Amino acid sequence: MCGVIGIFGRISLKDIVTPLQLLTHRGQDATGLAWASSDGIKTQKCFGYVDNLKIDEHETTDVCIGATRYPTAGASVLHIEKFSQPYTAQTPYGMLCLTHNGNIANMMQIAERLGMQEFGNDTELIAHLLADLLSKNKGDMAESVSQMMLMLDGSYSITCIFNDKLVVFRDPKGIRPLFLAKTNTHVMTASETVCFQLENPEYIRDVEPGELIIIGKDGMVSKKLRTEKNYHCMFEYVYFSHPTSTVDGRNVYDVRIRLGEKLAKQIMRKGIKADMVACVPETSRPAAQKMAEMLGLPFRDILIRNWHVDRTFIMKDQKTREVYASRKYLVNDYFLKGRKVLIVDDSIVRGTTSKKIIELLRNHGAEEVHLAITCPPIISPCYYGIDFATYKELAAHGKSVEAIREMINADSLTYQTIDDLKEAIGLPDLCTACLTKEYPTPYGAVLNRLAEDGRLSDEGRHYQHTD
Ligand code: SF4
Repeated sequence: MCGVIGIFGRISLKDIVTPLQLLTHRGQDATGLAWASSDGIKTQKCFGYVDNLKIDEHETTDVCIGATRYPTAGASVLHIEKFSQPYTAQTPYGMLCLTHNGNIANMMQIAERLGMQEFGNDTELIAHLLADLLSKNKGDMAESVSQMMLMLDGSYSITCIFNDKLVVFRDPKGIRPLFLAKTNTHVMTASETVCFQLENPEYIRDVEPGELIIIGKDGMVSKKLRTEKNYHCMFEYVYFSHPTSTVDGRNVYDVRIRLGEKLAKQIMRKGIKADMVACVPETSRPAAQKMAEMLGLPFRDILIRNWHVDRTFIMKDQKTREVYASRKYLVNDYFLKGRKVLIVDDSIVRGTTSKKIIELLRNHGAEEVHLAITCPPIISPCYYGIDFATYKELAAHGKSVEAIREMINADSLTYQTIDDLKEAIGLPDLCTACLTKEYPTPYGAVLNRLAEDGRLSDEGRHYQHTD
């Protein structure tokens, strides 16, 4: 998972920092920037946050792209130039520079086709594949992207610079988000609406699945290259996207309130009794507040986020995650001693955080700890860009809810149902493959069969992964 942006229109490089900062929740491993200059396309990459880029305050550009990186394919960043975006590739018709959010399930086949044995990750492959097609199609972007859409299997929301133009496209199933905004002077595109909120754009819409948009000095051209059934990722609403973002027409915060509404009804049906509702900050807060309202219980901030620790789920490996999970929250035990708490979280992936939190609450005097989860059990891997790519990582794989409850030592455990999740999001076409094993692309299904048969190595899933 990554966050990508693209801006067309004269801008100072220092003004790109804020939009990129606002995508940090999608990736904090590395940041990259590319911009058109009189000497061609320039790139700069750094470990960690955008603040680590050495930006020339006086430099301006007419077109730029950027990305925050979270590794799901390829190694975590070991060598900044090799493993992080943006990637450049030369064609006889000009230089291409590209950023990508998503994951290509058939990347090994693409590598084979290109004869590339060494590559940083799937984004580098996409850059080379597009450059190859542009060379064959005499620089015709629409034809090249159209052919590429037939070859790539997986999720891809892409921003690129080709010569002096900004080029944007999204996979035909629309698995990862991508939106478009406009001011009087700029056209902007990004993974989420949050990142241009401060610019107050006049016009916003999602880039349509299968749509290609080319923005240049002579205006903006849009082409719908492919139409397929959409499979928007449900996890964008449950966990990944910023609460203020609107993804495929659904406000993320509002969806999370509805997830709480559905879960509260289950808690009532099960007759679970608690003295208060709390949340695991911050993603599940809207759901927990709605649940408290519906259950007639006080909402209390029992767990306070320790802001000196980064987002646990997107830590690059399990060991780092475990160390950080135990330091991530501080407990307000004033409200807790001798009380029964219903704590709400967005998901249980590996179970690391849930177990630590329940232990923490009990150690601080909770009499009972009931856990409610806004996402249904995640039972199988994601091959489309969320970092739970192997069965052994998943707490819910092959386990009953009761076995998971026991493992994390909760007094009760209530998961969202898949039907309630779908209703809360309110979109007819969703990817729920990690809940149902129904993968929306052929290679996703192939990789899953290999994983189930134990033929997909843990190290790399299907990619190189050195964590
Ligand atoms: S498998 Fe799950 S996490 Fe991956 S894209 Fe589908 S819904 Fe999202």
